Amino acid sequence: MQYRKRFAALALAIAFIAAPVFAQSVERAKYVFVFIGDGMSMAQVSAAEVYARSMAGTSPGFVKLGFTQFPAQGLTTTYDSTSIITDSASAGTAIATGNKTASGVINMDPGKTIRFKTIAEYAKEAGMRVGIVSNVSLDHATPAAFYAKVPSRGDIYDICVQLAASGFDYFGGGGLSQPKGKLGDQPDAVEMARRAGYTVVTSAAAFRALKPVAGQKVLAMNETLQDSSSMPYEIDREEGDLSLADYVAKGIELLFNPKGFFFMVESGKIDWACHANDAAASIGDTLAFDRAIAKAMEFQKKYPKDTLIIVTGDHETGGMSIGFAGTKYSTAFGRIALQKGSYVQFDSQVIAGYKDGRTIADANLADILPEIKRFFGIDYAALSQAEQEMIQRSFIRTMKGEVERAAQESVYLMYGGYEPLTVTLTHIANQAAGIGWTTYSHTGIPVPTYALGRSQALFDGYYDNTEIFTKLAAVMGIKLPAAVKK
Ligand SMILES: [Zn+2]
Repeated sequence: MQYRKRFAALALAIAFIAAPVFAQSVERAKYVFVFIGDGMSMAQVSAAEVYARSMAGTSPGFVKLGFTQFPAQGLTTTYDSTSIITDSASAGTAIATGNKTASGVINMDPGKTIRFKTIAEYAKEAGMRVGIVSNVSLDHATPAAFYAKVPSRGDIYDICVQLAASGFDYFGGGGLSQPKGKLGDQPDAVEMARRAGYTVVTSAAAFRALKPVAGQKVLAMNETLQDSSSMPYEIDREEGDLSLADYVAKGIELLFNPKGFFFMVESGKIDWACHANDAAASIGDTLAFDRAIAKAMEFQKKYPKDTLIIVTGDHETGGMSIGFAGTKYSTAFGRIALQKGSYVQFDSQVIAGYKDGRTIADANLADILPEIKRFFGIDYAALSQAEQEMIQRSFIRTMKGEVERAAQESVYLMYGGYEPLTVTLTHIANQAAGIGWTTYSHTGIPVPTYALGRSQALFDGYYDNTEIFTKLAAVMGIKLPAAVKK
């Protein structure tokens, strides 16, 4: 029985990794960039473009981002083996290995017996250098999908250990969320990385001073970390703090060599912002992602015959759309600019401070209204009675610490698992701008994929996320075995 199960899973792997035949001619690229906007589909991209236009003028329109002007564009389905609505683990597995798997699984089959080899591992084997950058923790699902194999994305310590043993040349961005395990009692994975030869960098000054050295391996973790060991949202980033673009520029400098490189860059907090239904944070990170991609575009201009850049999303998050029932055909994206920080910043700076030492008995919504005005640009007195009541109800829930009661369905629909007052405020602010949300989770609609450079035309059309792997493998000259069983 066990053998039969294994055999069936192996057959599945073979079916998905059949040698691809492309209608277009395939020309090799030595330098390959894969940019993944986590949770980024058409709505997230369009919201950033409409916002950019609203900042630049008054007539409606889009200011196109750098990557949305790439000459090749496709649509990519993202479903996994268990659901139309994927997660970053199975979506990352599809992009990195060409295999569908179950939600939550990284680089193993749904039965969790077969281990899949990743495009980054193939690249390393072929003598290319490999870089992995993410602005969320480097042990998170999307970056892990390029170097780790675990039955569950929750096996974070195992992911950290596999990072240290990967031999990849450059890791940069967020920190590690569990380098010593869930309980903090395991051998330190950062130490393991040091022993494996990594130069470990944790300050902006040391990061800026990094220079390419033959044989050097770098693990660079951002000096400033926000929620869950991630880099701060762009909207919260302080002057002088490193940006995602800095990590891309440094990666290009460190990875550049005559044998080529494979460089994966994730913008992971577009997803987190959209889970929390915070359009301002999502738009800020999407625009910052475009600036990071611009660094690769500069490189591509210098090495057009050797470079391919692709930009895609792993899935959509939030069911974001432009259009809300309450505002019908109008939008007011300028209102997004009134928000001073992300929902995380409002939770930690405003709500936590107000709750400190106060109970529901001595809490008064009027105390916090000036902060709501300052942070979100929401003038309470100018709201409808229904909106005022929503704020009053959510304020009481927040003061009672009732976030955990979100398990109750009606409460979940209003607040997800988020701080009730904060998510109510982002909803009111977003809806006033004409942005609506359908969920606090992912959705199943396809994502756009953009390509610029060598063999770009391969990425035109409508295809599945597993095909991103086979297309990349072809462009990188990787010969795929009949089955991936490793
Ligand atoms: Zn997500």
